[in-house]
Amino acid sequence: MAEQKRDYYEVLGVSRDADAETIKKAYRELAKKYHPDMHPDDPDAADKFKEASEAYAVLSDTDKRAQYDRYGFSAFEGGAGGGFDFNSANMNDIFGDIFGDLFGFGGGRSRARADQPMRGDNLRTGVRISFKDAVFGCTKEIDVNQKEECPHCHGTGAKEGTSPQTCPKCGGSGQVVRTQQSMFGMVQNITTCPDCGGTGKIIREKCPHCYGTGYNQTRKKIEIQIPAGIDNGQSIRLRGKGDPGTNGGGRGDLLVEVAVTSDPKFQREDTNIFSEVPISFAQAALGDTIQIETVDGPVEYQIRPGTQTGTRIRLKEHGVPYLRNRNMRGDHYATLDVQVPTKMNEEQKEALRHFDETMGGHTSGPAKGRKHHLFG
Ligand SMILES: [Zn+2]
Ligand SMILES: [Zn+2]
Repeated sequence: MAEQKRDYYEVLGVSRDADAETIKKAYRELAKKYHPDMHPDDPDAADKFKEASEAYAVLSDTDKRAQYDRYGFSAFEGGAGGGFDFNSANMNDIFGDIFGDLFGFGGGRSRARADQPMRGDNLRTGVRISFKDAVFGCTKEIDVNQKEECPHCHGTGAKEGTSPQTCPKCGGSGQVVRTQQSMFGMVQNITTCPDCGGTGKIIREKCPHCYGTGYNQTRKKIEIQIPAGIDNGQSIRLRGKGDPGTNGGGRGDLLVEVAVTSDPKFQREDTNIFSEVPISFAQAALGDTIQIETVDGPVEYQIRPGTQTGTRIRLKEHGVPYLRNRNMRGDHYATLDVQVPTKMNEEQKEALRHFDETMGGHTSGPAKGRKHHLFG
């Protein structure tokens, strides 16, 4: 061979033990990058595309891959020109497989015709709610820009008294088929009809009320029920509240993404709620009854004497309801944070020094008792 061929695995940039999915993915990337349609006059891209296609033809076929793993390129030599004949029929399979959805090459996927019922587009919007509304659910009214069928032309876009005509270029299909000569033989390329823009119809006189679109934009208020337990970033789907379809197709959906405002007191993780509860040193040392604030209101809790800072308390079922089962709730975890006083008057300081002394005494400050003791 005049030219040194690159290893097929190297060409696709995958390891020798790559699975079929990885190989397919790698080829897809390369094919997209070097496809001749994207680089009509670049022979280098065409070569790269050819090289990748050859590598994929072999590595995507279990038998051929096994032969290649064993014998290398010589597995496919001895034919007329040597090398693997990748122009053969199996390239059609690859095209159907890989390009069916990528480039719209013939066969494979059946595309919707222009005169078939088509569901309307989905609409997307967002809503912001409070932390507690997310926990317990709420009702919100949102404004949505929605398309409504034009009452003057009933969605056809043609002036009253006229009707749209079938597009002569595509015969109403909305698509034109272009047959091209490529390195793999004749390839059928289906594209949207340029004359009617894919609708299959030509409007001679446009409806003046909707400028020929068949629709008017309206701003609508829609009430949405937000379920208890929803979390930041989750969406609610309202079926049939999107844009209207064409040729009798139903409306699309409205997707409302929920943004939850963070709370100064509570943090949330899935269905559990976390908070920090400050307590005094005396409360921690002596024990006390405190009120812990939860989303359900204050909950009474008994602190044991000698409680350390950082102690975590679990209040069962004071967390967030499960989205799929309202009767189940997460828990509330309160972390006790023992406060060290930052501002004390002389009397308080003195009391603490005395206390310290009775505990074995480490402070070196001017405690009255100690003063007497040392200098008295
Ligand atoms: Zn109209
Ligand atoms: Zn057309």
